[in-house]
Amino acid sequence: MLDEKQFAADPPAHSAGDGAGVRRILDHGVASGRLTHVERLPERAGRRVPWPGWVPADVMKAFAQVGIPGPWAHQAEAAGLAHSGHNVIMATGTASGKSVGYLVPALAAIGEGATALYLAPTRALAADQLALVRSLGEHLRPSLRAAVVDSDTPAAERMRARKHATYLLTTPDMLHYGLLPQHRRWDGFFRRLTYVIVDECHGYRGVFGSHVAQVLRRLRRVAEHHRRTGDLRFILASATISEPERCAELLTGLTVEAITADTAPRGPMTFGMWEPPLTGLRGEAGAPLRRSAVAEAADLLADLVLEGTPSLAFIRSRRGAEAAAAVAKTKLVEAGAGDLAQRVAAYRSGYLPQERRELEQALRSGAITALAATPALELGVDITGLDAVLIAGWPGTRAALWQQAGRAGRAGRDSVAILIARDDPLDTYLVHHPEALLHRPVEATVLDPANPYILAPHLCAAAAELPLSSSDLTLFGQAASGVVADLARAGTLRERAGFWHLTGLRRAPLTGLRGAGGISVRIVEEATGRLIGTMDEPSAHLMAHTGAVYPHQGEPYLVRRLDLDEGVALVEASDPGYVTSARELTEIEIAAEHRRADWGGAAVHFGEVLVRRQVVAFTRRQPETGQPIGDEALDLPARALRTRAVWWTISPSQRENLADSGIHLAGAAHAAEHAAIGLMPLVAACDRWDVGGVSMDIHPQTGRLTIFVYDGHDGGAGFAERGFLAATQWLRATSLAIADCECTAGCPSCIQSPKCGNGNQPLSKPGSLALLDRLLAGAT
Ligand SMILES: [Zn+2]
Ligand SMILES: [Zn+2]
Repeated sequence: MLDEKQFAADPPAHSAGDGAGVRRILDHGVASGRLTHVERLPERAGRRVPWPGWVPADVMKAFAQVGIPGPWAHQAEAAGLAHSGHNVIMATGTASGKSVGYLVPALAAIGEGATALYLAPTRALAADQLALVRSLGEHLRPSLRAAVVDSDTPAAERMRARKHATYLLTTPDMLHYGLLPQHRRWDGFFRRLTYVIVDECHGYRGVFGSHVAQVLRRLRRVAEHHRRTGDLRFILASATISEPERCAELLTGLTVEAITADTAPRGPMTFGMWEPPLTGLRGEAGAPLRRSAVAEAADLLADLVLEGTPSLAFIRSRRGAEAAAAVAKTKLVEAGAGDLAQRVAAYRSGYLPQERRELEQALRSGAITALAATPALELGVDITGLDAVLIAGWPGTRAALWQQAGRAGRAGRDSVAILIARDDPLDTYLVHHPEALLHRPVEATVLDPANPYILAPHLCAAAAELPLSSSDLTLFGQAASGVVADLARAGTLRERAGFWHLTGLRRAPLTGLRGAGGISVRIVEEATGRLIGTMDEPSAHLMAHTGAVYPHQGEPYLVRRLDLDEGVALVEASDPGYVTSARELTEIEIAAEHRRADWGGAAVHFGEVLVRRQVVAFTRRQPETGQPIGDEALDLPARALRTRAVWWTISPSQRENLADSGIHLAGAAHAAEHAAIGLMPLVAACDRWDVGGVSMDIHPQTGRLTIFVYDGHDGGAGFAERGFLAATQWLRATSLAIADCECTAGCPSCIQSPKCGNGNQPLSKPGSLALLDRLLAGAT
C-alpha cells in the first residue's frame, strides 16, 4: 500500500459529504460569537514537470508503477540540486511529496553502486518508510535493498543489513548508540555512502536538535574516514519553517540550498479561530474558567458526524483524545443517532503499522467518519483530503499548525480547519490576533549545537570512534577547542602525536539524545511493584514529592515516599479528596552578561546565569476551587542549573513611578513573567515547559526590578537567546494577551501559570500591564 502523503499522488476518495458539515460549524461559530476570525485559503493547481534527463529509466518506471507519472516542479528541482552535488533542504507543506525529492537522486545513485542512509525521528516512521521504499524496490531489484536497523533488530538481521543493505533506515539514536561506535563493522556501507536523508528535520530542535546536530557531525567524520569516492550529500525534509537553510546548516554544519515553493495541488480551505466561552465556574484565586478546548472539539465532532463530514480532531493528550471521542459518541446517542456513534474513534501513539493501515482504510471507506487523535498521528499515518480538521489548543509552532491543518482540503470541495483556543495566554493572544499567525513566515527552528554541555559528550564519543585531530575540531564548531581543553584538564582526553584520544572512559555510557540526560525517577505502586511511569528528577521534586497527589492518566495517586537515592517514588492509587501544589524557592545569579539593548531607562539583557531551585513545601488544596487547606514543609535538596537567560530591568525612577501609582511591584513583575513565558513559543519554537522564570522587585545584582526567563536545560538550548533577539515582538504580544483577556484580576488565560512554584501568588494584572507599558515605551 502506497503512502500518498509521502508521494503526493492524488488524494483518496471519501464517502459522501456535501459540505453541509463545514457550513454548519462555521454558521454555529459565527452565531455563538466563538469564531473570532475566518480566513479563506484559495485552491492551488499542481505543477507537474517531466523527469529530468539524468533520472534512470528503471527509476522512472518504478515510480510509474506505484502511481507517480512524474514529479511536481519542486520535487524535480530538489532532486536535481542533490544530484548535481548540493546539499538540499525541502521545507514544504503536508502532502507535498517530499519523499520523491530525496528518493529519486538516492535511487539513481544506488543503481550505480552507492548507498544511502535515511534518518527518521522515530522508529515508527522509519518502519513506514521501509514499506514505501520496498514498494518501489519490487521494480528496482536487485540494486535497491532496504533495511531498518534499530535497537530491536535481531543480530542476524543486523548482520544481513550490514552486508547487503543499500538503503538503510534508522534513527539518530541508533546512529549514536549503534552504528557510529561500531563503524568499522559497517565499513562496506560507509565506504559507498553518498546520500544522508534527514526526514522530518523540523523535529530536531532545542536540546534534542543540538544533540542530533553533533551526531550528524560525527557521522560526517566517520563517513569521510571510510568513503572511497565523491562527496557525502545531505537531503533534509522539513515542514514549512522559516530560515530553512539556517536550520539545515546548524544541523549539518554544511552549506545547504533550500526549496520552499510547494507545487503540489491543494484544495480550497477555510481556516477559523475559535474561542470557547467562559463557564461561570471559578478556579484558583477566584479566577473565571473557560470551557475546555477538548469539550468544544467533542461537540463539533458530533455535529460533523451527523452531517457525514470526514473529520479529524487533534487533541494534545491521549486522555483528552479518548475523552473527546467518548463525549462525541454520547452526544450522538443523545441526538437520537446512536447508530452513528460507532463511526467515531480515538487514535493514540503506539499503534502497530497494520493497525494504522486499518484505520486509514476505515476513514477512507467511511466506516469511521471522525477521529480524535493525539499529535502522534503526525508520524506515519496517511490521512489527507479530509473535510474538517479541528486543532484543540495551539500545537506549539506555526509549522505544526499548518502541518495539522494540511490534513484538510481536496481539489474541488470546501474544507475547514479550526484552531480552538485552550485556557492559556498564548492561545488567547492568537485567537484575538490572527495577524500573528496568518500571512507571516513560520518560526525558525531553534538549536544550539555549540552548547558545551552537549558538545562535551559527543567529542568524547567521537574520540572513541576515531582519535580527534585539530582539523576535526573545526568540524565540531568554534566552541570545540575550548571544550577539548577542558576535557584534557579533567583527564578525559589525552593528546598523543597530534591526536586526542579518549582515556580510560571508553566504557562510560553514551549520553541520551532526548532530554538533558539527567537521572529519571521511577513512579512505582508500593503494594504491587507495578511501574506507573517515569519522570526527570526536577519534575519529581515538584510533582512526586512525599505527600503529593500525582494524577496519572486521570487517576489520582498519593505519593507515600520519594526516595531520591533509589530514584523511586512509591505511590498508592488513592483519592484523598484534595490536590497538592509544590512551593519552590528560586534564586538566580547573573554569571556573565553577553548582550544588552537599552530601551530608554529600561533594558533587555542576555547572558549566563546560575539558577538554584529548591522545593521547600507543598499546599493541599480543594480540588474544585484551588482554595488552600494546609501546608506541609519538605526536606528536598536544592538543584543547580547553569544556563542562559534573557532578563529585563526598569530604571529606579520608572520603578518609583509605578509604586507611586499604587502598583504592587512584585505582583506586576510576577504576572508579566508568567505571561511572557506563556507567549515565548510565539518567537522561539519551544514549549512553555522548556523555560523557567524568576522575577524580583529588586534583584541583588542589578539593584532593579528584574524579570528573568531562562532555558530549563544545562548550558541552554537557544530559546532565551531567541527571546532576546525578538524581545520587542515578544513583549508586545505578552502585553496584548493580558489586555485582551476578559477577566479582571487574572486567570489561566492570561497571567496564572500551571507550573508556578508560588501558587500563583502574588499576581497583579493591572500592574503587569503598566509595567510592560513602561518597558516597551523605549523599545527599539
Ligand atoms: Zn485572564
Ligand atoms: Zn510564578
